[in-house]
Amino acid sequence: MARYTGPVCRQCRREGIKLFLKGTKCLTDKCPLEHRNYPPGQHGQRRVKVTEYGVRLREKQKLRRLYGVLERQFRNYFYRATRMSGLTGENLVKLLERRLDNVVYRMGFVSSRKEGRQMVRHGHFMVNGRKVSIPSYLVKPGDVVEVKDKSKKLVRIQESLELAEHRGTYPWLEVDAEAKRGVFKAVPQFEDVPLPVDVSLIVELYSK
Ligand code: SF4
Repeated sequence: MARYTGPVCRQCRREGIKLFLKGTKCLTDKCPLEHRNYPPGQHGQRRVKVTEYGVRLREKQKLRRLYGVLERQFRNYFYRATRMSGLTGENLVKLLERRLDNVVYRMGFVSSRKEGRQMVRHGHFMVNGRKVSIPSYLVKPGDVVEVKDKSKKLVRIQESLELAEHRGTYPWLEVDAEAKRGVFKAVPQFEDVPLPVDVSLIVELYSK
C-alpha cells in the first residue's frame, strides 16, 4: 500500500504548523518548528506572494498530511463526502476521523497517526473482537476497538497512553486505558474535532 516515506518534519515546516507526525518528539524542543519556523529548502526563507489558489492548496495539503493520506485517496474521500448529505467539508473530516489509524491515535494507543498506521498494519488491534490490519478501515458508531491481548504489554502502547493524558479526551470516544479498549460512540460533530484547517477552502479548491 502506498504511503509517504520522506522526512515528515519538512511537511510541518512547509505548512507552518505542528502536524504532530512524530509522537513524543513533537512535544519537545527537538521539534524543528521550534527553531526553524520557515519552509524547507534553499529558498525557504524568501518572501513569496501567495495566490488565492496557493492558499486553498495549502489548506488541502495540511488536512491531507495531518491524516497521512495520499492525494488519490484524499480525492476519493472528497468525492465520497460530496455524495453524503450535509456540508461536504464537514463530511470529509468525519470520514477521515473514522479511519482506524486515526481512531487508535485519538484513543491514545499510539503516539501519532503514522505510528497508528504501522501498528494497525502489523495487526496489533481488533475491532469488535476481530483483527483488522487495514489502516483506512472506517470505524462505525458502536464499534469496540482494542489492543490485541498479546500486544497489551508493549512498552510503546503504555508510553503512548501516558502521553495521551496530555492531549485530553474526545466526546465521541470512550476509552478504558487499563483494559486498552475504547468505544467509538458516534461519528464526531464537526465542531468537536480540533483542526487547524479551513475546510471550506478545500471544497472551493476541488470545486473549480
Ligand atoms: Fe512536526 Fe512533530 Fe516534526 Fe515538530 S517534531 S516538525 S510537530 S512532525
